[in-house]
Amino acid sequence: MNFELTEEQRLIQDTAKRFAAEEIAPTLDAEESRHEFRADRVAKMGSLGFFSCAVPEEFGGSGMGFAESVLMAEQIAKVSASWRLPFNMQNLGPALTVSKFGTAAQKAKYVPGWVAGTQLGFFAMTESNTGSDVSSMKTHAIDKGDHWEVHGTKMWISQAHVGDAGLLYAYTDKTQGNKGMTAFIIEPKNMPGCTARAIETKLGLKCAPTGEFAFDGMKVPKENVLGKPGDGFRGLCRGRSGRCRRGAGPGHPVCQ
Ligand SMILES: Cc1cc2nc3c(=O)[nH]c(=O)nc-3n(C[C@H](O)[C@H](O)[C@H](O)COP(=O)(O)OP(=O)(O)OC[C@H]3O[C@@H](n4cnc5c(N)ncnc54)[C@H](O)[C@@H]3O)c2cc1C
Repeated sequence: MNFELTEEQRLIQDTAKRFAAEEIAPTLDAEESRHEFRADRVAKMGSLGFFSCAVPEEFGGSGMGFAESVLMAEQIAKVSASWRLPFNMQNLGPALTVSKFGTAAQKAKYVPGWVAGTQLGFFAMTESNTGSDVSSMKTHAIDKGDHWEVHGTKMWISQAHVGDAGLLYAYTDKTQGNKGMTAFIIEPKNMPGCTARAIETKLGLKCAPTGEFAFDGMKVPKENVLGKPGDGFRGLCRGRSGRCRRGAGPGHPVCQ
């Protein structure tokens, strides 16, 4: 097997290296000390195609792949661990998931903005008592006929309080266990019943915005369910290939 980088991959690596050195490093210390997040920098990265690797071309991506994405992430993280977070969130967060599991309308509405860096994304799973064991989450959504009503809280969510649109995971039928978890595309600034605030006490990664959500009857339109109700955990577990990320494949008890 040949592990040499192709010429295109070297070019991508160099572009990220140069960006980190010229656009992040010079002001990084001051920004870290002020806990300053730069949405304009995300937009600049987007305009240079930084978030396009894993997304098909029809939605603004380049469809290059994960290896190219990792090459860029390495160069950014070498200069700033903080800036690796927005990079990965815009690149491999909701954009990747919606381009894989979304309807044509959801893909067209949301994915290009995440890829361009003009719409800040997030991926909300963690709660105060729910970390690695995602299935223990308490946030739930009630079917109200023409919409879903969400109750609960999320915490440690990257880009929560600055986010424009992203993914929320909640139970819609707890009696079904993991098969009762659903993913929703939410727009915190446009959906009453959602409040978001920053967590400002982190020991590091201070330029990377981390926040929490509280949902008090947030109304989510029915068309904002990603996949079908009950598909949420399956989507979390599966990668772009559609195979189970845990390697168990079609026989995995959770994924089927
Ligand atoms: C800066 C930052 C950004 C974040 N961004 C997001 C985000 O965007 N979205 C989101 O949903 N969450 C986010 N998180 C939360 C993150 O995903 C959780 O911290 C993570 O899932 C681990 O959960 P926990 O902290 O509760 O640790 P725990 O789940 O309590 O785990 C603690 C330790 O125990 C180990 N452990 C846990 N279970 C087992 C087991 N069964 N066997 C052996 N070892 C085990 C873990 O590996 C870990 O070392 C963020 C966190 C931080 C700090």
